Amino acid sequence: MIPEDIINEIKYRNDIETAVSAYVNLKRRGKNLVGLCPFHSEKTPSFTVYPENGSFYCFGCGVGGDVFTFTGLIENLDYIEAVKLLAERSGVALPQDGYDDSMQRLKNRIYDINRDTARFFHSFLMSPEGKWALDYLLGRGLTLKTIKHFGLGAAPDSWDRLIKHLKQKGYSESEMTAANVVGKSSRGTLYDRFRKRVMFPIINIRGNIIGFSGRAMPGEDKQGGKYVNTSDTPVYKKSANLFGMNFAKNFCSERIILVEGNMDVITLHQAGFKNTAAPLGTAFTQEQVNLLARYTKEIVLTLDADAAGQKAAQRASQLLAGSGLKVRVIMIPDGKDPDEYIKKNGPERFSALLEGAVSDMDYKLLSAAKNINSKSDDGRLQYLSAAAEIVAESDDIMTRDIYIGRLSEKYGVSRTALTAKIEEIRRNKLRLKKKKEISEIIRPRLSKDDINPERRKSVKGTAAEETLIAVLLKNPDFYRTALEQLPVEKMITSLNRRIYEIIISTLESGRTLDVSVFAEKLLPAEIGYVVSLQNSDKAGKNPDIVLKDCIRVILEEDTLSSAVNSAEATAEDWAASLKDLIDKKSKGNI
Ligand SMILES: [Zn+2]
Repeated sequence: MIPEDIINEIKYRNDIETAVSAYVNLKRRGKNLVGLCPFHSEKTPSFTVYPENGSFYCFGCGVGGDVFTFTGLIENLDYIEAVKLLAERSGVALPQDGYDDSMQRLKNRIYDINRDTARFFHSFLMSPEGKWALDYLLGRGLTLKTIKHFGLGAAPDSWDRLIKHLKQKGYSESEMTAANVVGKSSRGTLYDRFRKRVMFPIINIRGNIIGFSGRAMPGEDKQGGKYVNTSDTPVYKKSANLFGMNFAKNFCSERIILVEGNMDVITLHQAGFKNTAAPLGTAFTQEQVNLLARYTKEIVLTLDADAAGQKAAQRASQLLAGSGLKVRVIMIPDGKDPDEYIKKNGPERFSALLEGAVSDMDYKLLSAAKNINSKSDDGRLQYLSAAAEIVAESDDIMTRDIYIGRLSEKYGVSRTALTAKIEEIRRNKLRLKKKKEISEIIRPRLSKDDINPERRKSVKGTAAEETLIAVLLKNPDFYRTALEQLPVEKMITSLNRRIYEIIISTLESGRTLDVSVFAEKLLPAEIGYVVSLQNSDKAGKNPDIVLKDCIRVILEEDTLSSAVNSAEATAEDWAASLKDLIDKKSKGNI
């Protein structure tokens, strides 16, 4: 644990308004500030900063916390790492090893295991035994320099060579399985997860190896599939990373090329397109969009012409639509992937393809035309309705006008009719959107039930718990009164019990109660929940009366819910609770 006075010092020097402004364009609204949330895509601001108590909360996606939580989320760091970063930025010295964090220690061990594993795979690739893999990579046109640059390797066809190697290096079995380079069978035996595969290390933007992607040799992909990837570990979340981003981040301030596979990233990089990355064998995610939005202005999607590629691109362009990033799509002629195309036609041709990449709208119009017979009147009408929907998506009147002109000319329909149709679609969409936005503000996307799944136990009791927490956050002096009448274990839902416990123990130990005390112990969405309570007006004008009411309701509901539980109890439970009751009686407690 970092001492409280140091945390406060760092916080004092990194006020939340300045810290957030570096990433979000904030506008003043009353005593607070609002902006577009950097953690989910939105068009009207629901991300709120409360300078008064140094907190933030998004009414859209439910994240919230203090300046450390914010920095951690946006820079992809854990809490301690975020504290360190802000300390560094503001010149506050941290005590050396004065605190201990077992999660951080495990993460460091996993980074070490990954690094040693990557070295093991690389030297195997370069050894005579790894010739099959090196032949494959050279055969795909990679140079030795590129192979080294990306740290490529090969896994031997063995169930335990990596395990033996890592044991020799002093890693424990649990560390190896935590890193997910080693698996554990249902009988408890350990085995190497990657066997006879070409290995691609996955490196995060800070240069740590966080996982691996292993490709089977062509024709040998029956067992375990073409790719085997690291599952999510304490240091790796596949939905939040992109392959190649560690290199691309330094070359993509204007534009980044997104491709489908690791091999495409490497070939393009070798051909001089260093601004290339790929999602890690997953559908494109919001977290990846957020990561990209921090480094670049424009995304060029390259597509495989197959159905899967098209579907992936469609999903990607939907996600990207709300990000403020410019999006273009390249269709590679003859259904080739970028790797094949460059090999056949050279990098200059690919560069020309990049320059002429069709806009997202051209691409959508082209793909809509694919399955329709535009020779028949019916087919044309069908296509024009689909096209009108697509053009209506653009918020730019000039763009719409250009496309209306093109469509009317090509399909022989009047501009007036087409314009009227498109404006009608836009009006309907706008109405729907307004409705949706209003309901989103009232009911956050991450519903309160997701954060506190035990709400079902007693909706009334949970609401009282929330008000009680809100009162205590605003009036910490009341905590003794609360504790006297409401012991921690009487809280109905376990999340609120944990929050109440943190409040009580913080105040008992004489620390100040602010968001930071939660940031160390709760998940971001849970901290968001606390911040939303803190900034609500649940406490009202007479917090002392409100507090009493809450306690009464919680105690009543607690008795009720335990009564319901005992109705469901088994005979054994009954015997146990009877015995308990008799014991208490004999001690004179009842
Ligand atoms: Zn949000």
